[in-house]
Amino acid sequence: MRYMLLNPGPVSLSDGVRKAAVKTDLCHREPEYFALQDRVRSGLLGVYDLEPECWSSVLLGGSGTTALEAMMSSLLPRDARLLVVENGVYGERISRIAEIHGIDFSVIRHEWTDPIDLERVADALSSSEFSHVAAVHHETTTGRLNDIAALAQLCERQGVQLLLDAVSSYGAEHIPFQSPVLVACAATANKCLHGIPGLCFVVCRKHSLANAAQPPRSLYMHLPLWADKQDQQETPFTPPVNGLLALEQALQELAAEGSWQARHAHYSQLAGQVKRALTALGVEPLLKPGASSCVLNAYRLPAGRTYEEIHDGLKQRGFIIYAGQGSLVAEMFRISTMGDISHYDMERLLAALHTVFST
Ligand SMILES: *Cc1c(COP(=O)(O)O)cnc(C)c1O
Repeated sequence: MRYMLLNPGPVSLSDGVRKAAVKTDLCHREPEYFALQDRVRSGLLGVYDLEPECWSSVLLGGSGTTALEAMMSSLLPRDARLLVVENGVYGERISRIAEIHGIDFSVIRHEWTDPIDLERVADALSSSEFSHVAAVHHETTTGRLNDIAALAQLCERQGVQLLLDAVSSYGAEHIPFQSPVLVACAATANKCLHGIPGLCFVVCRKHSLANAAQPPRSLYMHLPLWADKQDQQETPFTPPVNGLLALEQALQELAAEGSWQARHAHYSQLAGQVKRALTALGVEPLLKPGASSCVLNAYRLPAGRTYEEIHDGLKQRGFIIYAGQGSLVAEMFRISTMGDISHYDMERLLAALHTVFST
């Protein structure tokens, strides 16, 4: 059976992307690879119309967490003082990365179901002791889309730089790149961009690379090394070549759809269909209306139903959904509508939801 992946990445691939991934064998020390690398790097900036004079997209092998750890460990100078804003698993992951790399940091912690308390952030920033803020854009734990534009405004007021985990939003949500304090975003090929797993990237302002940590905190994850080599049509280590082949195709498909705005509209439409169907079946969204991303929604498990029976019922019908995390594991489940999902798939999904939740 072919499963539709409704988990938050990896996603169901289009036929074009699946074929592109294994299209050819490519040595990463040949000009054909470097031309591909250049096209993918500029394609990633193109998703948000970012100027190549100011912005660099740096590719590296690994999952989204590699990009996140590379951004944090490279772009925070040795004397940085970091404020981490947490309202879910991925915010907590940022703190864990800071801890491991010996970065001087404080945390503003929220309940996982709460939005960012901007007043608390403003209070903390007014102490003037921070040089950087790190936050998650789409907190996939609950599906919440954090208000990064408002957070960036607070950072602007204090002249503090902002590092963003945009792993589950790059390619489908608005990112306030026009804010001069937003210096870097970590992201991955295999979520909203519809590529294959194994390739991730950091989009950052060039000046942030020039001010990177010295001496480096890591060999593999030091972004200036990757950026310098990639600028010179080289690569420091073996890149996930097939990941680049797939992402090039995925970026072309995204551009043909009409870039991130079209993908946003498409995801919103699919997520809305799922939400209306589930609400009619008595299944309540976890968050208030308007708080979720277009990428993923979290729902409360109906009384008397377990995640396992819902998951298994949908899997039998060809759909993979996702459990809650941590303390929310017994209370909720998540459905993402990323990936190559056709109208026919949606019809089958809505029928499957109806069967599984009404029995
Ligand atoms: C998926 C995700 C990550 C990275 O997870 P990996 O398993 O390392 O790919 C990081 N942050 C957010 C918000 C995510 O959704």
